[in-house]
Amino acid sequence: MSIDRANIRWNGWGRENARTTFHVPETVWTWLAGVLGMPALLATPARTIEDIALPSVRLDAHDRGAIDAIVGSEQVHGDAHDRARHALGRSYYDLLRLRAGAPQFAPDAVVYPRSTSEVLALLAMASGRDLAVVPFGGGTSVVGGVTASAASHRAVIAIDMSRMSTVLFVDMRSLVASAEAGIFGPDLEKQLQSHGVTLGHYPQSFEFSTLGGWIAHRGSGQASGGYGRVKDWLLGLKLATPRGLLEVKPFPASSAGPDLLQLVAGSEGTLGIIAEATFRVRSRPTVSHYGAFLFPSFESGADAIRKAVQENVPATMLRLSDADETEFQRGYAGVGQSELRKHLAHLYLRARGVTAGASLLIAGFEGEPARVAHARRAFLAITKKAGAIGLGQGPGQRWLKGRFEAPYLRDELMGRGVGVDTFETATGWTNVARLHAAASAALREALRASAPKEGSKGITMCHISHAYTDGASLYFTCIFPRALDDEIGQWRMIKTAVTDALIANGGTLSHHHGVGEDHLAWMEEEKGPLGLDLLLAAKAALDPKGVLNPGKLIAARTPFRPFAQHAFENSALPASRPPARKGAGE
Ligand SMILES: Cc1cc2nc3c(=O)[nH]c(=O)nc-3n(C[C@H](O)[C@H](O)[C@H](O)COP(=O)(O)OP(=O)(O)OC[C@H]3O[C@@H](n4cnc5c(N)ncnc54)[C@H](O)[C@@H]3O)c2cc1C
Repeated sequence: MSIDRANIRWNGWGRENARTTFHVPETVWTWLAGVLGMPALLATPARTIEDIALPSVRLDAHDRGAIDAIVGSEQVHGDAHDRARHALGRSYYDLLRLRAGAPQFAPDAVVYPRSTSEVLALLAMASGRDLAVVPFGGGTSVVGGVTASAASHRAVIAIDMSRMSTVLFVDMRSLVASAEAGIFGPDLEKQLQSHGVTLGHYPQSFEFSTLGGWIAHRGSGQASGGYGRVKDWLLGLKLATPRGLLEVKPFPASSAGPDLLQLVAGSEGTLGIIAEATFRVRSRPTVSHYGAFLFPSFESGADAIRKAVQENVPATMLRLSDADETEFQRGYAGVGQSELRKHLAHLYLRARGVTAGASLLIAGFEGEPARVAHARRAFLAITKKAGAIGLGQGPGQRWLKGRFEAPYLRDELMGRGVGVDTFETATGWTNVARLHAAASAALREALRASAPKEGSKGITMCHISHAYTDGASLYFTCIFPRALDDEIGQWRMIKTAVTDALIANGGTLSHHHGVGEDHLAWMEEEKGPLGLDLLLAAKAALDPKGVLNPGKLIAARTPFRPFAQHAFENSALPASRPPARKGAGE
């Protein structure tokens, strides 16, 4: 069962004409306008597909003939909807351009292979004909990972993997399974769970992202505490490259040289196209318990998570909101509640010693009943010592139910003149507080400096989303009034300020979103010149003509270009240069 692309929105989240799974009452929009210092939210509808300006097609009849000869003409699409759907990913920056009807880029054709041999033939053909190739899974990249930009080549094709979606085997004895890489999250889980096992990889983009995309950017599901990240569950794969098939065999462990699996994981379609993957699975949980706690402060909550992880408490998910995020969630949930009820809640919390600065933690436990009971007991003891209050299962269950809703809400916000973006990183426990403070301050300042009107303001918040014995990831969200006369300039200012702050304060460039085009300018700071040379050498070995996903992750370094600068040339949207970055001399 593969997803029908014709039913997927080309400029937003979800299926065409599908209602979102939740309704936002008018009172919430009024409340939000107040929080953002706007007299009222605006009406900023997206352009329709009829209004969209796509670049003209550059493939000639010989190219088209060569592609058709490999996959058959019915597997090659060139209609506006399919080209627009494959033009960009799903970042705020992508949506700005798509909703304005000016994506600037679009593949000259979208090709749907059905087998590894077709993918191999397509890559050999593209190398020979100077065609760039964008490997495309669900297209949910938020870092410009699937932008159909290819100035360096004659034309660009998107290779959409969604028709390679078969589960190949489930080995119940070894707890290992294998599938083609274009399978979408819900389909994969449904088939695995019918065997009584699960992969447990649930990124927020789960509904519309694929196994190949998860591996290609080495991401993390929300329940990584229990089921691991890509690097923990990936065992083997088949990578189609312009030079042939690279097979990394699935062994439980091996000391036969450097781990090629981890070279391919995170390569973001620049080294090859993952055709198949083999991965560890676990028994499907029989019990699931998601509860909530209110900690006196972000620091005390973070310390409780650190202790839980270092003491091996088997939690599936520990997610701690900072005071701003907790306050925002409280405000959102409180819209429409009577003042008396809010006051009573306030008095109750004060009596329990919780005042301003409190931080909400959602703790999830899944597995066998005895294991879950043991984990909950151990975690409860830690929360008690930290002075946290248990809030029962209500908030945890609500979080679980709405865990995939945020991208639908983002579309609603963008249609009302409101921007929303996210940034994520990871650092050691000794540095979590410093990085949290510095990046929050940089984000606040960028929102202030880019606010469209006197009195309007953005809001910032953060949560710990994944935890390890040595550190944790921090996930920042900002919601802000859009500067409609220079939206991209506003985004660029915010993105640059926050990313600079993350790097300057000891955070990684990305914990789970990857690099793509949008983070490219910071790659050398993260990997160092030799590290970058190593990656470029791997690319030269597998993709000598450089046709695979050009301009992403490991683009050649000279001359240094500020990130995605080309995106502004001939833009139908207002263009503005990013603030100069250290060492960014173009
Ligand atoms: C609302 C939202 C929430 C998100 N939440 C999370 C989250 O919780 N955790 C997380 O890790 N990420 C998250 N992401 C980021 C994104 O969803 C992930 O990057 C996702 O795993 C990408 O999968 P995809 O199939 O959509 O890949 P795509 O977006 O299609 O591709 C991502 C990258 O991988 C390459 N690629 C895709 N398929 C293949 C293949 N078969 N072989 C080689 N290269 C390939 C592409 O060229 C691109 O560089 C989120 C994104 C959105 C929009």
